[in-house]
Amino acid sequence: MFGLIKYVKGYRVGAVLGPLLKLLEALMETFVPFIMSDIINNGINKGDTVYVFNRGLLLVFIAVLGWIFSLSAQYFNARASMGFGLNLRTALFDKILAMDMETVDRFTIPSLITRTTTDVVRTQTGLNMFLRLILRNPFIVAGAIIMSGIINVKVMIIYMILVPLISLGFFLTIRFARPFYEKIQRGIDRLTSFCRENIIGVRSVRAFGIQEEERASFEGRTEELFENQVRADRIAAINTPVNTLLVNGCVILVLVIGSSFVNGGFILNGSIIALVNYLFQILLAVERTATLIDSFNKANVSSKRIKEVLDCDAGCGKTPETAELTQKTPEPVPGAPFIEFSDVSFSYDKNGKDALSGISFTLGEGETLGIIGGTGSGKSTLVNLLQGIYPVTGGAVKISGINVNDFGVRDLRKLFSVVRQKPVLFAGTVAENIRFGNPEATDEDVDRALRASVADEFVYAKEGGVDFEIEYGGRNLSGGQKQRLAIARAFVRNAPILILDDSTSALDYVTESRIRKYVTGKETLASTKVIVSQRISAVMQCDRILVLEDGLLKGFGSHDELLESCGIYKEIYLSQTGDLEEAES
Ligand code: ADP
Ligand code: MG
Repeated sequence: MFGLIKYVKGYRVGAVLGPLLKLLEALMETFVPFIMSDIINNGINKGDTVYVFNRGLLLVFIAVLGWIFSLSAQYFNARASMGFGLNLRTALFDKILAMDMETVDRFTIPSLITRTTTDVVRTQTGLNMFLRLILRNPFIVAGAIIMSGIINVKVMIIYMILVPLISLGFFLTIRFARPFYEKIQRGIDRLTSFCRENIIGVRSVRAFGIQEEERASFEGRTEELFENQVRADRIAAINTPVNTLLVNGCVILVLVIGSSFVNGGFILNGSIIALVNYLFQILLAVERTATLIDSFNKANVSSKRIKEVLDCDAGCGKTPETAELTQKTPEPVPGAPFIEFSDVSFSYDKNGKDALSGISFTLGEGETLGIIGGTGSGKSTLVNLLQGIYPVTGGAVKISGINVNDFGVRDLRKLFSVVRQKPVLFAGTVAENIRFGNPEATDEDVDRALRASVADEFVYAKEGGVDFEIEYGGRNLSGGQKQRLAIARAFVRNAPILILDDSTSALDYVTESRIRKYVTGKETLASTKVIVSQRISAVMQCDRILVLEDGLLKGFGSHDELLESCGIYKEIYLSQTGDLEEAES
């Protein structure tokens, strides 16, 4: 956890004041039993009410002081640990936003989410516990032992033997129970994803009639969880009685020794009460130290996971922040083709199968490229490589003769308006979502984009029109509506290259063809367009069509050329236009 300590920045004063104030609180706490015994011994026993009253006032004063210290300590500790959490989360968020996709894939998105949420909370809690208890606990233990030494040395020696014994008890319990708690945590994680999958996919579960299987699998998981919980609790259950036995035995010992002293006139009954009080203070402090260590361990595991993200620079070099500063986009090469793929290969998994291999083609500025191929043939991958989202494993992707890797990231991003296969909308109004594409877009621009993407009909029918609130993840819109808004968002962007990646799949043919007309027409400011689709009708009119199968380029040319030269293309064409039998006969 200390590896992250620099994130306390801005809250350092609190991190120092908090523990110090806790120390003062502890100091007050150790005085209390001593004064109590004094009141009993010298006030009550002697019937001196004035003495009792005066000392009572002192006690109240100490209590108030302790309360003030405790409150302010709590305030500073909370500030420091919350500030720490804030800094950490912000740093993580910035880091993740700046990450390239390869690194995101490596961490996986769910894991990045857990790291920014649960792990940060754990580290933050760990720090809070640490600030609260690090000075206080040792001080209480030492203070209580010393104070009891002032009252009676023999009892002090008993305490000094007892403390390590009780501590050992607590630490052994934690040590033996922890593996089970870890298993429980992992079990809960798995159970949660299992539940999520089944509840979200409840229609499929019913449709396939696999309720029984799913229930059995669920039961297996919960039973395992149950077993582990019982095992962990069994260990924890031994702990409390053993420690209580130890402590109560000790109390009896103190009472026995004490009473013989009292009878012998060496010790007063008030002192006995103080000694027992100190014993409980010690016990409480030891118990809290044990929990501190436990939460500290958890915080350590979490902070390691956080540090992995913060420290990763493999693949994070090309971030908008750093790249913009360090990397100037070179001058375009005169006469170079606008887009050029030369012998490009790519694999998501370094040792795995290539998602694309040996792809070579060029596209002139202002031309429209259609990409057709079945699912998994590498269409989205090709489009990602064009945008420089993943670095190629072999060959080169060039725009105006400049390798995409050599672009300044901001310059590169400015080249593209993209509609992804799965549209991502954010919670907010329709207009806000559209302006993600271009913050400067005027109301007229937004309106024009909505019309062009055939989204105007449904948007203006909604309450509030462009101010209609889209819910988280676009839940209150249909798939086709989401696609149309994503398309409108790309339209307002007006970047030189417009990419539609399978983005009309949820639309009917009429809507699709209206959008296509706009895309291929003269009104868009984007000069070069890439249309990815599985439908021949969507790409037929493109200047160039690229046919992909299994990561390989199977054809490149105009519709007419491909019908002549590319068997796969012809097959797709015939099967989709329904002329198959006719052609074969
Ligand atoms: P298409 O868009 O034509 O349906 P993709 O380009 O998405 O195909 O996928 C091509 C291949 O790469 C598929 O085999 C797919 O499983 C794999 N793939 C796609 N995205 C990833 C990813 N993020 N990580 C690993 N493999 C991927
Ligand atoms: Mg795709």
